[in-house]
Amino acid sequence: MSHATPRFAALQAAAGARTTHTRIDRDKPAADVFGRLVFSERVMQQRLPKEVHNRLLQTLRRFEPLDAAIADTVAAAMKDWAIERGATHYTHWFQPLTGLTAEKHDSFIIPDGQGGAITEFSGEKLIRGESDASSFPSGGLRATFEARGYTAWDATSPPFLYPGATGYTLCIPTVFVSWSGEALDKKTPLLRSMQALSTQALRILQLFGTDAGVSRVMATVGAEQEYFLVDQNFFFARPDLLTCDRTLFGAAPPKGQQLEDHYFGSIPQRVLAFMEDVDRELYELGVPVATRHNEVSPGQFEIAPLFENANVSTDHQMLLMETLKRVAARHGLQAILHEKPFAGMNGSGKHTNWSLSTDTGVNLLDPQDETHTNLQFLVFCMAALRAIDLHGDLLRATVARAGNDHRLGGQEAPPAIISVFLGTMLTDIFEQIEQGTPTNTKRKDKLDLGARTLPRLPRDSGDRNRTSPIAFTGNKFEFRSVGASSSIAWPITVLNTIVAESLDDIASSIEKAAGKRPTPARVESAAKALLRKLISQHKRIIFNGDGYSGEWLEEAQRRGLPNLRTAVDALPRILDRKSISLFKKYEILNKAETESRFNVYIENYNTTVLIEAATMLHVARTMVLPAALHHQTNLAETVVATQSAGFDCADSEVVLKEHIQRVADLCEAIENLDKAVQNGDLSGLKHARHIARHVIDRMGVLRRASDAIETHIADDLWPLPTYREMLFVR
Ligand code: ADP
Ligand code: MG
Repeated sequence: MSHATPRFAALQAAAGARTTHTRIDRDKPAADVFGRLVFSERVMQQRLPKEVHNRLLQTLRRFEPLDAAIADTVAAAMKDWAIERGATHYTHWFQPLTGLTAEKHDSFIIPDGQGGAITEFSGEKLIRGESDASSFPSGGLRATFEARGYTAWDATSPPFLYPGATGYTLCIPTVFVSWSGEALDKKTPLLRSMQALSTQALRILQLFGTDAGVSRVMATVGAEQEYFLVDQNFFFARPDLLTCDRTLFGAAPPKGQQLEDHYFGSIPQRVLAFMEDVDRELYELGVPVATRHNEVSPGQFEIAPLFENANVSTDHQMLLMETLKRVAARHGLQAILHEKPFAGMNGSGKHTNWSLSTDTGVNLLDPQDETHTNLQFLVFCMAALRAIDLHGDLLRATVARAGNDHRLGGQEAPPAIISVFLGTMLTDIFEQIEQGTPTNTKRKDKLDLGARTLPRLPRDSGDRNRTSPIAFTGNKFEFRSVGASSSIAWPITVLNTIVAESLDDIASSIEKAAGKRPTPARVESAAKALLRKLISQHKRIIFNGDGYSGEWLEEAQRRGLPNLRTAVDALPRILDRKSISLFKKYEILNKAETESRFNVYIENYNTTVLIEAATMLHVARTMVLPAALHHQTNLAETVVATQSAGFDCADSEVVLKEHIQRVADLCEAIENLDKAVQNGDLSGLKHARHIARHVIDRMGVLRRASDAIETHIADDLWPLPTYREMLFVR
């Protein structure tokens, strides 16, 4: 047998692959290129007439609608700026419910009728686009309305130039809505939720008298992105990676992550060259990436940006994922963002750090050291606890995707049960509040939140807990359940909304208790009484122990916390009456819009798993089985030849017999999966339940049958790049 299988070709090519070129001009210091491709406030200031600039700033700072009268001037400045940098086209850049970004490029260039051309870009075109975007998923929304969709400029996220092969495209961040204004995208509800959150948070600041100069409260977000890199030659030689972004077959390598020698280890040269390019390109796009390192599994890495307001951060997160993929190709690598590309290896998450900040720059989840802001901090913290306790199931549903099911609940990602890690210090403070401040004298200094002797709440309690889905980490909450491939828009939208609801509830209670003319003292005692009540109602959501342990499963059940193990268990919670009325009350999504999300996510689940199953069947039938039969022929010929030469070959016969059994297992597994997939009449949730119950299981059986063959077959016959090769060759 010659070494000409795709696998050996890929292995040879991978071993020789090196970074060929980089796109980046490294002569300039990184700080000088930062934001070079962004139509930033600074650029606007330079390029717009003062009056127009001021009016635009109003829009940006106050999140107000854009004044149409200035749009032409802004558009012209934007066009000139873009063309000077080599752009020929512009696009309304939006985030449909696919979870990806979408764009349709239009040229600036228009023939002038005399054989030449002029460039044109009107305010109208900047502000609004109309796209026949009927192929985007709408979850049923658009069947009842028009097929048309509109994109509208979201002026609160800056336009930017996205690099193409040789030039740039001016990308204008937009929302995407139907003719009647229904949200067809992820950004519209996110922006609405930021508005709701701001309104309610401001009420709390007013009560505590800390609202001076504050016109808005924003959710701030920084998301840590985990990803894998494999040599692109392997990627292309694996139909499962190419189609599904994860391996559907593959025996465990002799060395996996047992030694933990990869984590935070020195970064391989080719990978480092890739990371340097990524960082540089993201700097140019104004994405403030801050850290990069090796992750737990071999071949796994992480990149994390500084936090920004939730809207910009969401856009930047999308750019970050796209940049990883785009730049990797230049280095002969493939960036894999799937939540579980390699069985038995660490999965990839996107820890989404979330906090609240005033537009004057005060982090409201920072304990600070002033007594009244301490109490205010506890109120905000309590609002988050109450929100997560009341809507943990909905929050779980926001991260429910087929890919994330392989990750949540494994002993490396948070469990599917939503709880909050507060740390001992904060937990202790809340416990004392619950017991009632005046009676306990033992630790009086910590108890009396009104007293001048109040101890400073340390910013970081020092301890960490990797097993918790949501951890308070000093001055922010870290939502760890988010999957690596997801947009963060939907989880943040829900987090914003549920916290807005709790802040609303808390503000109303304090306002009522403190009376018409609330003095600081009245607000303080009303807040303390309320905190006492709320902590006893919601403390069940706090869990500081080991989320991986079996005891926690039992304990969580005793506490009545939902354990929504799979996406199919979790997604229907979006349709609960309490979810629908929550979204309606804060004008995030109307009932039809909420239902559309559920429909889209269920459909996505079904399609994703069925594509995986079809890919599995294809690989099993056209690659694994032929290789196995070839091996069988070789073994059988060996047995016959040995016997006819007059030798006993009982050992070879055993090997042959065992192999035949493994092939039989494989064939049976193929047939069983095929049957499960064929079950055709079902749709929607029913279909999803069928898939979760029958298809997923049989995919596991087929995988094990194939992996057993992989570990016994002649090496030169095995058609697929192996885990050992993919994870260790760089
Ligand atoms: P660690 O690495 O210990 O978890 P870091 O301070 O490095 O903590 O932060 C990790 C992520 O949290 C980064 O992406 C960072 O931008 C983000 N982050 C930090 N502070 C905030 C905040 N106030 N709001 C939102 N995200 C934040
Ligand atoms: Mg972190």
